[in-house]
Amino acid sequence: MVHSTARRIAESMALIDGLLSPGSTFQKRFFFLARRFVAGESIDAALTAVRQLNAQGMSATLDFLGEDVKKNHEALHTRDVYLQMLDRIGDSGLQTNVSVKLTALGLLIGESIASDNLATILARAQHNSDPFVRIDMEGSAITQATLRVFEKLYEQYRNVGPVLQAYLKRTPGDIDRAIALGARVRLCKGAYNEPREVAYKDMPTIRRQFSRSAERLLLANHYPGIATHDPILVQAVKRFTERKQIAKDAFEFQLLYGVRPEMQRALVSQGYRVRVYIPFGTHWATYFYRRVTERRENALFAFRSMLQK
Ligand SMILES: Cc1cc2nc3c(=O)[nH]c(=O)nc-3n(C[C@H](O)[C@H](O)[C@H](O)COP(=O)(O)OP(=O)(O)OC[C@H]3O[C@@H](n4cnc5c(N)ncnc54)[C@H](O)[C@@H]3O)c2cc1C
Repeated sequence: MVHSTARRIAESMALIDGLLSPGSTFQKRFFFLARRFVAGESIDAALTAVRQLNAQGMSATLDFLGEDVKKNHEALHTRDVYLQMLDRIGDSGLQTNVSVKLTALGLLIGESIASDNLATILARAQHNSDPFVRIDMEGSAITQATLRVFEKLYEQYRNVGPVLQAYLKRTPGDIDRAIALGARVRLCKGAYNEPREVAYKDMPTIRRQFSRSAERLLLANHYPGIATHDPILVQAVKRFTERKQIAKDAFEFQLLYGVRPEMQRALVSQGYRVRVYIPFGTHWATYFYRRVTERRENALFAFRSMLQK
């Protein structure tokens, strides 16, 4: 009951997210719910979170929240926030790079719009000590377009890499392709509600697919990001890299802000590289909804926050 109530509230908030003006009173009132998973609404808040994680020996990747934009000026706004963010990162000396969603840069308006906006971001990122820009992977309807934009830009910019999702049936082929290109891949399970035709639905199969892809990426040695909080997969990667004598600095574990902080700290203390994905911005409701619906613990956490308010 608690789970479904929290889910329903998160769902309603995600639905109205796109209708709200940034910084509206409604958003500000409910931000306390998302605070555990979202660093704040401003670049300053995001950089404060990076500073705290850097002090604990972790690097970060910053995501300006917002997706599925339908208007050109919104895509340009996203691009400009990233440019501003990159300058601030460069000035601050903090250890972080950025992650972008192509639908926030205008992919649904036109592939070339998203591609041009990303090219501007990639060029600016090259001024920073960590110039890497990660393209988050979204729903399967745009997997092909996302990889097309990545490959086109990769011809010119080497500081860009894609995310591949273990639950997608197509992913082993995409892993082959990424390895052949020498691309730096983030591997995750996948967070979208995909149809059975394109995605595995049961956890043992998804874990098996994840492990196989992780092993291939680790052996290929293009600094993969292993993005999971799943203790079974983390353990499997540790065992595999020890057996194959793959150095701890040849890859990184990546975890989400606010999820399993004790695991993040434990990995650092064991000598692994850890990067934390930090979302920020006013359009936090859709992201918050994904976190609440993928894990019962997160729904319970959100529900407890409502009661404590
Ligand atoms: C850095 C990063 C980037 C990502 N980027 C993308 C992307 O671009 N595209 C995409 O589709 N998805 C992305 N994801 C999301 C990913 O696809 C999964 O939806 C998400 O990570 C949950 O899967 P999991 O492997 O962590 O395992 P889960 O099965 O969710 O969790 C494994 C175990 O971790 C524990 N756990 C998880 N969450 C909590 C919690 N809040 N509190 C307590 N215990 C918890 C539980 O014990 C659980 O059994 C990303 C994830 C990460 C970590």
